[in-house]
Amino acid sequence: MACTTVPIDHGTRPGMAAATDADGTQPAALHRVRTMLRYGSRAVLESGRIVAWTAVYGTRAGTVALGRRSQEEKDVALSGIARSYLLRMGPLYMKAGQVLATQSGLLPKRATDEFRGFFSDLPPMSRRDLARTLDRAYQRPVEEVFETFDWRPVAVGSVAEVHLATLPGGRRVAVKVVKRGVRERLWASGRVLAALIRLGDLVPAVRRLDGSAMFGEIRPLLVDQCDMLREARTQLRCRDNFARHPYVRIPSPVLERCSRDVLVMDYMDGVPGQFPEGVSFPRGRLAQRLMDTFYSAVFFHGFYHVDPHPGNLLFTQDGGLVLLDFGLFGSLTEDEKWDLAAFYYACIRKEWDVAVDRLTKAFVVQAGRIDDDPDTYRRQMAAVLRRHFEEVADHWSTFAFFDDATRLLRRYRARVTTSFSLLAIGLLTGEGFVSQTDPDIDVWANARRFTDRFSPYMSAEVQERFDRVIVPAIPESFALRRRAAEFLVAPTHLDRFVLPSAYPLVVDSAEGCRITDVDGRTYIDLSCGYGPHILGYGHPAVARAIADAAMRGGVNALGNRDELALGEQIAQAFPEGSKVILANSGTEAVVMALRLARAHTRRDRVAKFEGHYHGFTDQGMVSGWFRHRGDKARPEPIQGSAGSQHAVVENTLVLQLGEPASLERIAEHADELAAVILEPMPAAMAAFDRPFLTALRELCTRKGIVLVFDEVVTGFRVHYGGVQHLAGVYPDLTTLGKVIGGGLPCGAVVGRGEVIDAARTTRDPFLDIETKGFVGGTLSGNSITAAAGLAALQELERDPGVYERLRARSAFLRKGLLAEADHLGVPCDVKGEHSIFSITFDYASPRFVRDRLSGSNMKANLALSYYFRQHGVYVPELHTLMLGDAHAEDDLAEVVAAFGAVLTEMVDDGLFAH
Ligand code: PLP
Repeated sequence: MACTTVPIDHGTRPGMAAATDADGTQPAALHRVRTMLRYGSRAVLESGRIVAWTAVYGTRAGTVALGRRSQEEKDVALSGIARSYLLRMGPLYMKAGQVLATQSGLLPKRATDEFRGFFSDLPPMSRRDLARTLDRAYQRPVEEVFETFDWRPVAVGSVAEVHLATLPGGRRVAVKVVKRGVRERLWASGRVLAALIRLGDLVPAVRRLDGSAMFGEIRPLLVDQCDMLREARTQLRCRDNFARHPYVRIPSPVLERCSRDVLVMDYMDGVPGQFPEGVSFPRGRLAQRLMDTFYSAVFFHGFYHVDPHPGNLLFTQDGGLVLLDFGLFGSLTEDEKWDLAAFYYACIRKEWDVAVDRLTKAFVVQAGRIDDDPDTYRRQMAAVLRRHFEEVADHWSTFAFFDDATRLLRRYRARVTTSFSLLAIGLLTGEGFVSQTDPDIDVWANARRFTDRFSPYMSAEVQERFDRVIVPAIPESFALRRRAAEFLVAPTHLDRFVLPSAYPLVVDSAEGCRITDVDGRTYIDLSCGYGPHILGYGHPAVARAIADAAMRGGVNALGNRDELALGEQIAQAFPEGSKVILANSGTEAVVMALRLARAHTRRDRVAKFEGHYHGFTDQGMVSGWFRHRGDKARPEPIQGSAGSQHAVVENTLVLQLGEPASLERIAEHADELAAVILEPMPAAMAAFDRPFLTALRELCTRKGIVLVFDEVVTGFRVHYGGVQHLAGVYPDLTTLGKVIGGGLPCGAVVGRGEVIDAARTTRDPFLDIETKGFVGGTLSGNSITAAAGLAALQELERDPGVYERLRARSAFLRKGLLAEADHLGVPCDVKGEHSIFSITFDYASPRFVRDRLSGSNMKANLALSYYFRQHGVYVPELHTLMLGDAHAEDDLAEVVAAFGAVLTEMVDDGLFAH
């Protein structure tokens, strides 16, 4: 696995990036030579210092250790020696001191107390050095940059110190200034350490640990801590990640005043992290919040502080956490986040073999001797996991777990990834800080609480609650599910892929917007059968049309009037000259559209967008709902289902909706691209991006790429026709399904005649085979489905007010739901436009589908479905909700009232406490 730290310019030495010196006068070559000399001499000096001081302090420590004092006295003396040794050795070593200071469990208390001085008692730079640094940064007197500037630092760290100032106009700011000489010393001590490790590599046993490679990956990170511009960008990214968070606050950097040595940010007041006793907020909850914050950064954002020590944070009196330092950050890829979640999931379920496999796959880069005896390795690692996750869970320590796991891996000469190492360091410091804030915290229980709340699987607590009330109420539904389990496999709602419903819903009858289950319980339904029933269940016109067509024999595979009528009805809803091909589902329609695009363009590849679902084919599911890979702006393909053809997956170009890079990538690959397919209004977002769609349209036209809008959900639902009519942007092909079948299986491709004709016969069989795309299906255009679809579309066309009503009722419902949540102070986001809805309990406002689950209270979200059921409303778990014309305002008022009752119960049950 690749190194996944923040992107780094590995080749550049600090101070060597600029072509001219900071004052802009020195020629580049001369500057470079001088810098090299400066850094070279630093490295020599540093080596000397390390050897000399290590000898001096080593002797002192040895004398104490061998002396005749009590153990406690020795601990105190040795800690003092270690502290002044690290202080003398420079910033890299001070970092080590900071980590040690958080480890109350690792070192004697007296020793950690000694090291705690590293958070606050470090020496500042001289006023002269400070003035020179500021002068160099601003090239003008400090008085001109700041209205006031306090030359006494309020905090001094190992790398930088912080001063208070005001900007002209009175804005209070904190000014973080890199200490003079620190950059060079970090660089030099990094070099020297690297050289020492290389020296160690001469010993084969040491070489196998691959320390050089690991340190090589981490070293640039250490030096990058001194780059305040980089830090300001990191700070902004974290601010974004925690935007709207209920208690995490991050000061805004004032970018126009930042430079490589100086970071200016809004001033925020608070109690330094090492003094939680100065805060009136309960210590236990403060520690819990700390841990949640750190876990959120790791598991949701995949972007976390590697060194979250108390000096980097302030507490506010109301329990807020102000994050201050953004120097050392580690990141996890989407795959690593997934692997880590999968690993913890297996541990929680006590499936140790699975957990061992997942841990090894995720974090071991070199298997060493594992492959020689994999069975023993698995047994031993399983024992480590069992011990930490089960036996000693009540005094859980991630550090101890990582330490034991690493030790075992080392015995097998296996090498872990840098991500693993950085995460270990981060968790080590973070959890140390948490335990210091509340020594009684049960880290394990809190970790479980966190995963329980934020993971997309059923919480045991919720399950227990509803097992008591729902299970006895739906015996018939359970009996049917048990029977089904014997012979009916799969993606039915009795047994759904990835998210099997805890409580089956087996419908006996449905009418309008209501469904009644086999146990006689009636619910207002907000699923609309996942879309088709826009007119409500059992609409008389549709039911009549179905009965009539069935009475006429139910013709398929032979021409019939109904298919003609449906085809014509659909074509007329799209731009003039549009033509139609009928299919049996949305999935089929997409397969057809893509084949036609290939036949038409004679190109092979397809581009799709991350998080968009286009049916269950290999390509339709690439980077779909659950799994994502690569950079946000430039995603990489990943299969959405086992059994997908590797070549198809890999050949799919995956893009990000709304990202300019997506347009560049389409242009780059234009010669190979047959089609670009997307959901123009992704159901998860319930919104469309007109400028992006317009740009995409223009680009595809220019490059001769077929643009396909997948309107299987939105077609005839958000407007008669689809989103394209609302956006005013028209694709070459549109795929349809759901509504156009009136509740029966149906799909269609509609589009420009020129492209659709790629499926029209030439009447020359030889030419057909060579040039035409075959699309077909025994039941495509069968008379019963076609009659049902036609009746539904005619109803929608006959009453254009239907879309106005759906819009108004969507607004009514959205407003009502939000008002209930607001009234109860529940963090709730309702997206809902044009009859398509989602409800999340979330502090984030994700821009991309891949971030949608980050920070979302999954436990509440899943539970919502079951609380609602108890109040006579059916909402599918974690799926888009939909309205139909059969939902009258009274029904929706009932839903709103039920939501109020549901939220009250959820609040009482503690689902939103933090
Ligand atoms: N495209 C989109 C956008 C969809 O949401 C779906 C299904 O939900 C499909 C295609 C596949 O349609 P079907 O389930 O009818 O095969």
